[in-house]
Amino acid sequence: MNCEEATKLMDGYLDGELDPITSEKIEQHLRDCRKCEEAYEAHTALTHAISRGAPYYKAPIELRQRVHSSLRDEVADKPARTVLRRSQLLVRTKQPEPRTVLFGTPWNWLSLAGLGLAAAVIFAAIIFSNLAPVLRRPGADQFLATQLIASHVRSLMANHLTDVPSSDQHTVKPWLDAKLDFAAPVVDLSGEGFPLIGGRLDYLDNHPVAALIYQRRKHFINLFIWPTAAGTTETKKTMTRQGYHLLHWVDPDFNYWAVSDVSDSELQTFNQHFEGQILHR
Ligand SMILES: [Zn+2]
Repeated sequence: MNCEEATKLMDGYLDGELDPITSEKIEQHLRDCRKCEEAYEAHTALTHAISRGAPYYKAPIELRQRVHSSLRDEVADKPARTVLRRSQLLVRTKQPEPRTVLFGTPWNWLSLAGLGLAAAVIFAAIIFSNLAPVLRRPGADQFLATQLIASHVRSLMANHLTDVPSSDQHTVKPWLDAKLDFAAPVVDLSGEGFPLIGGRLDYLDNHPVAALIYQRRKHFINLFIWPTAAGTTETKKTMTRQGYHLLHWVDPDFNYWAVSDVSDSELQTFNQHFEGQILHR
């Protein structure tokens, strides 16, 4: 590896983006080449100075997911102009600056770092100005919906639909009661076309929950149940995400979230039968 190659690859090396073999070659060159090593040290010092000087807050995972999904929506909403502007901004910072040696220090790394920082600030400002209204929206339900769908999909993919496979509510209920610190209602809806397949323990929203699995023709419905928080005044709501329908309702004792790829109206029917059965127990 010569100085020119090392210079080109330095940014990637500093960001840890290179494969091990290329990194090893750069390190070898830095051991052998005084000039490149000095440049490397100058760049590292600058990076440290920036990271020390700038406040850094680790985004909570919930915020990160909201930003990601908001960005996806943003890109889907106005693809042409905004995205082009952003990519131009990014591309411009990646173009190599003319190489000028200033007092023996390759100036282009420093100027690139400065440009990169400026671009990052502008980029962040653009994102933030676009996202500020989005970030103020309550995202707790969206976050929970993501978890619910993930859990539903996982239960179907991992061949772990049920812990207790039984169509008998008098088998499923005691099994769940013994594992949880609440007694979730279990009803069989086979007479209504939603046969009970079994039960499962799951973990959502930071607590263990009961999952009841119902079948509708070839489809499955995961019904997640956990106790309501005191003073809950939520009403029934529906959501559609990633092709899955979610239906949420509460009663004085429990939260219910039904997740499935059956149609929205079938979930509503399921909900009516479920609530009807609970009332008549
Ligand atoms: Zn060199």
